[in-house]
Amino acid sequence: MCDPECPNEAITFGAEIYEIDPDLCTECVGFYEKPTCIEVCPINCIIVDPNHIESEEQLLDKFAEMHST
Ligand code: SF4
Repeated sequence: MCDPECPNEAITFGAEIYEIDPDLCTECVGFYEKPTCIEVCPINCIIVDPNHIESEEQLLDKFAEMHST
């Protein structure tokens, strides 16, 4: 359910499970108030990756870079 909901096309089907590309994920900053993939997941399997903690400012910068054209 999450894949088509991602506004950044950050979710793809990997070798075994769906995966989120941390370079594309803005935690939905710039689009929604909360991460929409987490909102729509019926089994609550999406967790924050402790190796990719980013500030609101960093996420906004990433959003602006990706959607500036
Ligand atoms: S938090 Fe938002 S941008 Fe990140 S993977 Fe989920 S739906 Fe996509």
